[in-house]
Amino acid sequence: MEWLPYIVVGVLGLIGGSFVNAWVWRTYLPASEYRGADEAKANTKPEEKQGEKATGNGGSHTSGAPDADGQTSASVLKGRSACPDCGHTLGIKDLVPVLSWLWLRGRCRYCRNPISVQYPVVEIITATAFLLSFWWWPSALETWPSWVHLGWWLAITSVVIAMGVYDLRWYILPDSMLWVLLVLAVVSRGLAAMTGAPLEEWLIGPLAGAAGAFLFFYGLYVVGRERWMGGGDVKLVFAGGLLVGGVSTIVALFIAFVSAAALGVGLMASRRKGKGDMLPFGPFLLAGFWLSFFFGDPIASWYTGLLLH
Ligand SMILES: [Zn+2]
Repeated sequence: MEWLPYIVVGVLGLIGGSFVNAWVWRTYLPASEYRGADEAKANTKPEEKQGEKATGNGGSHTSGAPDADGQTSASVLKGRSACPDCGHTLGIKDLVPVLSWLWLRGRCRYCRNPISVQYPVVEIITATAFLLSFWWWPSALETWPSWVHLGWWLAITSVVIAMGVYDLRWYILPDSMLWVLLVLAVVSRGLAAMTGAPLEEWLIGPLAGAAGAFLFFYGLYVVGRERWMGGGDVKLVFAGGLLVGGVSTIVALFIAFVSAAALGVGLMASRRKGKGDMLPFGPFLLAGFWLSFFFGDPIASWYTGLLLH
């Protein structure tokens, strides 16, 4: 039954993905609409706070439908969703990740208005990232701290995907998401310590990576007068450095710069983007750090091996 854990992790990933969708949308909604919704449902406030914490834990909610106003967004966090076009409350059979969208052929069951393909795509990406994390997990999953560390990493993975989706759509990394990532990164250092990692691995390396990347990006930010780097990128590399450690931070930045340059050149060559068009850098950084968590050390030793020969 060695495939059974993969099925469990994959289903968790689909659920995490539908929570990512809901969180991205809720974060995007203007603050004024939140306030209106909060006042209208003042008694739900404690539950909303729990909902935000659940986000950090990878999400226990299964609601992931798009909502267009604050009121339905508040209901997302209570586990209920409504169609943004017709306002019809969605049931369980409308909210099954990927399958509902396929079954309904991308349309609302009640008003037949189209639902963005972003929803099932994000769910599939999250499930894939969960499965790869489980497959690539660098240490043996034998003790309970190592399972907690894996679960924590899956929560971080959900936040990373949410930030990437947000930056791709709206060209900004929201501070609220950056804070969640930073807190998760700090706690993950403690979890790494509990799994018995040596001091330089769980504390000194990550601090060096975070500080070094932060100073480098802050320099780019100041010298480039915010044209090269956004403030969100500067904050992101600090949290990313804490997550992966010093050497892997260098690998992460290398992956981000090389892949962004390659894609930028490719898009310009195919004339899909002009020189002045903006390509958000956040998704490249997020992908670089996420991959470096698993492959930072092997890539670094492969590269130094090349230099020494
Ligand atoms: Zn509808």
